[in-house]
Amino acid sequence: MAARQRSDDDYDVLLKVVLIGDSGVGKTNCLSRFCRNEFQTNSKPTIGVEFATKQLTIDGDLVKCQIWDTAGQERYRAITNAYYRGAVGALLVYDVTRQKTFESIPRWLSELREHASADMVVMLVGNKTDLKDQREVAVEAGQEIAQREGLLFIETSALEGSNVDEAFSRVATEIHSIIRKRRL
Ligand code: GDP
Repeated sequence: MAARQRSDDDYDVLLKVVLIGDSGVGKTNCLSRFCRNEFQTNSKPTIGVEFATKQLTIDGDLVKCQIWDTAGQERYRAITNAYYRGAVGALLVYDVTRQKTFESIPRWLSELREHASADMVVMLVGNKTDLKDQREVAVEAGQEIAQREGLLFIETSALEGSNVDEAFSRVATEIHSIIRKRRL
């Protein structure tokens, strides 16, 4: 018998999580690593919002994470309100080998404050830790800004697959626990 496709009604919780950060930091590859366990070395040709989903079980609840990727729109500063609408979590990604992408964090945070809900769970993600010889941003610098701005923090390598699942899972778990408390 063919397996029945799940509908949104089958899930206890649906979460929209957005990826933001400068172009080339590895947002698309974090998404494809988490949702499909894939890594792409070539840069993507398409422009436009894309999303992928992944199912998690958190505290016995079936949670569907819908993860949105800018797919290049950030290059043109063209991320719209619709991108952030309904999002309960964000991964703000920078590239640990490019200081410039780290310096963009305040701009991304102010964009979040302008468009996103105030209680959104935000995680700062320093990606490309595999490029050890090219590191320009110390782990302590990431920790410091995360602490100051009240963000979760992690460093990842989408290439090696290190900490990528943890990044998304921690954000989803944090959101889930906030939703649970509200239900009580
Ligand atoms: P986006 O523009 O932020 O979505 O970035 P992409 O996911 O398209 O990645 C940009 C480039 O960085 C591509 O050439 C990827 O192969 C590369 N890249 C992404 N993540 C990593 C990583 O963790 N390590 C290394 N070495 N390269 C990465």
